[in-house]
Amino acid sequence: MTAAPALAAAGPATGPLVDAFGRTADDLRISLTDKCSLRCSYCMPAEGLQWLSRTAVLTDAEILRLAAVFTGLGVRSIRLTGGEPLVRPGVAELVRQLAQLEPRPELSLTTNALALADQAAALAASGLDRVNVSLDTLDRATFARLTRRDRLPDVLAGLAAAAAAGLAPIKVNAVLMRGQNLEQADQLLAWALESGYQMRFIEHMPLDADHTWTRADMVTAEDVLAVLEARYELEPIGHLNNAPAEEFAVRADRADPQAAARWVTDPPRVGVIASVTRPFCRDCDRLRLTADGQLRTCLFAHEETDLRAALRSGATDQELATLIVTAVTAKPAGHGIQLPGFRQPERPMSAIGG
Ligand code: SAM
Ligand code: SF4
Repeated sequence: MTAAPALAAAGPATGPLVDAFGRTADDLRISLTDKCSLRCSYCMPAEGLQWLSRTAVLTDAEILRLAAVFTGLGVRSIRLTGGEPLVRPGVAELVRQLAQLEPRPELSLTTNALALADQAAALAASGLDRVNVSLDTLDRATFARLTRRDRLPDVLAGLAAAAAAGLAPIKVNAVLMRGQNLEQADQLLAWALESGYQMRFIEHMPLDADHTWTRADMVTAEDVLAVLEARYELEPIGHLNNAPAEEFAVRADRADPQAAARWVTDPPRVGVIASVTRPFCRDCDRLRLTADGQLRTCLFAHEETDLRAALRSGATDQELATLIVTAVTAKPAGHGIQLPGFRQPERPMSAIGG
């Protein structure tokens, strides 16, 4: 359902964007496209997804205009996502212009890394601060099965290019599926520790286009930790800076008895994002702008605020700010996945912007 834009401003809308539960929204995810170069089974269908039309998608100028309104309301961090953001032409130029906003937001990108080997240097030169790369397995056959594309070597080349371009710290996000890659969690962590990437495991959420998610089948944070702890000694640290990941210090590696001595003063970390079994809604500071200009205050929302319609019908910055403030005020307390009446949103993750 889309909330009709109410353009009549009651008074000047100002930041910070505090909701009815006292949470401040200062982290904006902007989806640049609903299209993607992979077809991860937990996100997109193999085929048959209806794409947004070219005219439905916000132009660079529209994104910049909205980003300026959001930063004026206290948004401090902007993450570009999708679909796959790097399939959109001209992302480095968009980053360059976003980096000129005052105050300048922190700029990051979530990507499958297929195009990073080509684009990492230009993105860094344009002002991109960091990247998060999604990679669920190091096994080529498992990768091809999970993503429905045989492109693992491109991801690894993209990661190397991001590191060479200084887009650090590089976080690598993995979604684990039972019977597919759950048992590879410790191998992924070993590789990330060796490569200097920060590994994070994300619980599978009910946001797949095929609607096949079930609570019974999903891999929980507990399952992931059980696999990791069979090899590694982990020490819980908690959530750092209100981030969704629960962090663990890696203290020892049973496969490498020398590691503990190396890690004694500055242990590496691994994160687990347990959105389903240990929700962090109480501390959620996120807003999402879809590629077609709809503002969502929660990944699982059924309501959206149509900022594109307002923009294209001549709304002033103040009127746009009022729409944003109104939407944030009504941000729900939580996603309610654990409640009996939970309904998966119509848009899959690829069309919302993860
Ligand atoms: N294409 C880019 C990528 O994969 O990094 C950016 C968009 S993708 C939708 C953003 C993140 O959402 C990825 O890390 C992906 O693993 C995650 N994701 C997608 N579907 C998910 C689901 N059903 N549950 C949990 N995470 C999911
Ligand atoms: Fe594409 Fe990212 Fe979804 Fe995978 S998770 S299908 S890479 S949008």
